[in-house]
Amino acid sequence: MIQYKNNEEIELIRESSLLVGKTLAEVARHIIPGIETRKLDKIAEEFIRDHGALPGFKGYGGFPGTLCISVNENVVHGIPGKAKLKDGDIVSIDCGTILNGFYGDSAYTFEVGEVKDEIKLLLKRTKESLYKGIEAAIVGKRIGDIGFEIQNYTEQFGYSVVRDLVGHGLGRNLHEKPEVPNYGKRGVGIKLKEGMVLAIEPMINLGVKDVVQEKDGWTIRTLDRMPSAHFEHDVAIRKGKAEILSTFDYIEEVLNIK
Ligand code: MG
Ligand code: MG
Repeated sequence: MIQYKNNEEIELIRESSLLVGKTLAEVARHIIPGIETRKLDKIAEEFIRDHGALPGFKGYGGFPGTLCISVNENVVHGIPGKAKLKDGDIVSIDCGTILNGFYGDSAYTFEVGEVKDEIKLLLKRTKESLYKGIEAAIVGKRIGDIGFEIQNYTEQFGYSVVRDLVGHGLGRNLHEKPEVPNYGKRGVGIKLKEGMVLAIEPMINLGVKDVVQEKDGWTIRTLDRMPSAHFEHDVAIRKGKAEILSTFDYIEEVLNIK
């Protein structure tokens, strides 16, 4: 069953989502070659707790971290640990919070030091595809319209869309109905209605679309070990234009872009 939200609930999700954006910005300050990913996780957990919230991923299904930290060929669900970021890496950092009973969930893929142009482009275009998907996330359209836009935009560059993992509804639970695939057909799927809140999160691979799970039981990586990018926003479905509840503004202020 889809849980529709009233405006008050949407405001609470926005507050939680904005805290995720601020947390990712705090983490962004520390993304440099040589840092252990568990250090980033600690920074995020302290920041979230200092702001009166709980880390939304910690303990979720048994996940051990506050952040999912997925480097290069790792797509999502990477576990923070002793591994150090290296010059030329890309790192997807996915963060969730629970504030006033509502989840926020947002992800951004960062460059570490100097990254190859081909991979920089993968990041840029994956982020662009997220906004293409969001443009289609309006009342009257269907779930398939969102996925169609993301797929259509990214495949023109020869990239592939991960099929095994999808976006989702969001609210009092981290993963609610409906599923939001990053691929699809126009006019197909559940109709989008006012009050739906969706986490839209394209996972786009430089190589093949296939992924496998690592032996740690969490990390999802590309089968061909080519890099993958991931960006995620939480949006409220409205007439005419979706309302983006999360933000990359704090992150991009730190990164000095825009
Ligand atoms: Mg996420
Ligand atoms: Mg999500």
